[in-house]
Amino acid sequence: MALNKSPETRWAWVEIDQGALRHNTRTLRSLLEPGVQMMCAVKADAYGHGAVACARVMAQAGANQFAVATVAEGAELREAGITQPILILSEPPVESIPYLLASRLMPSIMTEEFALAFGEAAAASGVPGRYHLAIDTGMNRFGVPYADALELRRAIDFHRGLSCEGCFTHFATADKLDDWDLALQAKHFMEALTSLHEAGFDCGLVHCDNTPGTILHPDLHLDMCRVGIGLYGLHAAPTTAERLELEPVMSVRARVTRVTSPAVGEGVSYGMTYRVPTKGTQIATIPLGYADGYSRVLSNRAEVLVDGRRYAQVGAICMDQCMFAIEPADARAAAAPALVAGDVVTVMGVDGDDAITADELAELIGTINYEITCHFGMRLEKLYV
Ligand SMILES: *Cc1c(COP(=O)(O)O)cnc(C)c1O
Repeated sequence: MALNKSPETRWAWVEIDQGALRHNTRTLRSLLEPGVQMMCAVKADAYGHGAVACARVMAQAGANQFAVATVAEGAELREAGITQPILILSEPPVESIPYLLASRLMPSIMTEEFALAFGEAAAASGVPGRYHLAIDTGMNRFGVPYADALELRRAIDFHRGLSCEGCFTHFATADKLDDWDLALQAKHFMEALTSLHEAGFDCGLVHCDNTPGTILHPDLHLDMCRVGIGLYGLHAAPTTAERLELEPVMSVRARVTRVTSPAVGEGVSYGMTYRVPTKGTQIATIPLGYADGYSRVLSNRAEVLVDGRRYAQVGAICMDQCMFAIEPADARAAAAPALVAGDVVTVMGVDGDDAITADELAELIGTINYEITCHFGMRLEKLYV
């Protein structure tokens, strides 16, 4: 693919495959009945993929709305000219209200204090205070407890400055099939919605499914699905991986900056946790480290790819650089020319017939693919291909 391209200022980068992003957006969109809206989660800089660039692709491929975690994330999308509705998936500080109104961002509301302050400011500014009501149905993270949703709505609804555009909840176990906790959360959500409807309140768009929910629980699509991880070509769990073909969007690559052949017994990197085992071992350096999202916990555990062949990362991963070894027994040493500075190394992604996945890296350090892409997105320059 674009293996020969790299940024001018650094020999380490993230590649974002816009075709894959488009494919995944359309694939998820195709699961929804016409009339069901798709809200795309682009929080945390689109899970490390670059929020503005990704939102543009998603908007063309069928996204109706966007979701972010913070006011700053929402404002960034507005400044870049994104016009779709944007929901903040939390209730931000009251002090952020002028920014919400200026950028036309919808907060999630769970307290009376915030709702009334938002309504006041909205009325004074002449724009309706559009919001979604966040309902906690059992995850115990955020939202008004489902049994109190009607009371909160009653307490705030006299306010003419406010406009309820949606009501939602979030599931803790959407990736499971036939799960009692999920069934209970869904039941609580329906109870809250019924109480609101019976009291005559308009709930706006009701929504609860995230990516695994969208794939596994179509009965809960309701008015809108909030998809995130699937857009980036990753699965939240094996339960959904068997059901839908998605293409990973992010790859991480670097170029070799230096190759040496230390003597047997010499150590590599801080603490010398790796020592050269055999004569002829080459040590190659790439300018990518834990501050780029290549967790130090991966030290001496991860592998990288060069021309489709795997090599062991060796020694402690430093903040901005790390090393890998080409031992004489490695196929490459015999079959191919020695590695030289400038050779492209794949830290994550497809290379030849092999691939290092976000799931492989996540597994090695006991986390999930979501965290892997978020971290790679933090400092590395992104090339959109
Ligand atoms: C992040 C998030 C989503 C998207 O979740 P995925 O598992 O990435 O699809 C949906 N809803 C809420 C409230 C979220 O925080």
